Amino acid sequence: MGRRMIYDHFFRSAVDTLHDERRYRVFTTLERDVERFPRAIWHSSDGPRDVVVWCTNDYLGMSRHPVTIEAAMRTAQRMGVGAGGTRNIAGTSLPIVELEKSLARIHGKEKALVFTSGYVSNETGIATIAQLLPNCLILSDAQNHNSMIEGVRRSGAEKVIFRHNDLAHLEDLLAAAEPARPKLIVFESVYSMDGDVAPIHAICDLAERYGAMTYIDEVHAAGLYGASGGGYAEEVGALERLDVIEATLAKGFGCIGGYLAASDLIIDAIRSNAHGFIFTTALPPAIAAAAHAAVEHLATSSEERRRHRTQVARTKAVLNAAGLPVKLNPTHIVPVIVGDPELTKRASDMLLMEHGIYVQPINYPTVPRGTERLRITPTPFHSDDLIDGLADGLVAVWQKLGLPLKPQAAAA
Ligand code: PMP
Repeated sequence: MGRRMIYDHFFRSAVDTLHDERRYRVFTTLERDVERFPRAIWHSSDGPRDVVVWCTNDYLGMSRHPVTIEAAMRTAQRMGVGAGGTRNIAGTSLPIVELEKSLARIHGKEKALVFTSGYVSNETGIATIAQLLPNCLILSDAQNHNSMIEGVRRSGAEKVIFRHNDLAHLEDLLAAAEPARPKLIVFESVYSMDGDVAPIHAICDLAERYGAMTYIDEVHAAGLYGASGGGYAEEVGALERLDVIEATLAKGFGCIGGYLAASDLIIDAIRSNAHGFIFTTALPPAIAAAAHAAVEHLATSSEERRRHRTQVARTKAVLNAAGLPVKLNPTHIVPVIVGDPELTKRASDMLLMEHGIYVQPINYPTVPRGTERLRITPTPFHSDDLIDGLADGLVAVWQKLGLPLKPQAAAA
């Protein structure tokens, strides 16, 4: 066997495993359209087709808002496309500095620090914080995102995992730890797959009682909740109680990038120690300017949040009334549970091909086996007609696949 054949053997077997385990991913190529959002052109193997996108994380449509587009274009024309360097070496552009000021303000913190993505901010943020605390014990929620898990891992600190949102379990673990030992509680506000929320105040109570630091991921909440878009912590009045707030610029704010917001001192310590911040090129000025425009817009305009909530509530009500197994929660995420990977994939394929509805199947390992689902994310731009069309499409697919609908709908 030649050299290449030997190595190819391993990659072939990796791809085969993905197929065997039904985890092989097929990407859906979209041509997004500012004017027709959330409609897009799907470039299928049979040619272009019009679809309605129902699984975007551009939750408020800020990627296509005139203020973000205009800021990006104007800044790219003035400052060029690339940042030109790391933050330490020529990459700290004025728009990034302005963006960080705005982010700190909406989260009620002294300082913010922008990273390449939310993934990087979690991974390098958690790792760095835990490394700066001697003999740190990390207490991590069982449903934390992969980027947080990788940060915990990379810190090298000892970790204990508490059952998802289980305060009694968290308290047991805190009580069992040596009182003087530094402790870091790591959790999310809005959990992305079920759309449930953390008991933020109760976790802060425990942190205060047992002398722990708190680190919250607001990736699925920043821009969407709170009067200034400061996330779920702002919504429930807990901003001041949290030590470190992490979030993304890629979802509610419609751009790309991630950040941490915390005290001046914490950010100062992280900035010169976090490898994922130091050794990489800064966010381009045009993106920083666009994100800044989005943050500033959502800090004063509640129109997007209001309309978003209305359309989310309507989507949940219409799907539920149609007998579909919607997992109810207090947030903007609408999980429709199928409970089988093959059927979830088929439901998604049929929706796309037969109804022009694009919603990606969510399978293991993103969610536990047996809870495979369609994760639907309405935006303020999904009209009532589109919501009705989604319900019709789902019901038709459910019937064709022999999936159960709740009885009141079967009778209707
Ligand atoms: N945290 C959570 C909870 C996420 O779901 C994600 C990605 N979807 C991230 C962090 C990473 O954010 P980004 O996409 O900005 O890298």
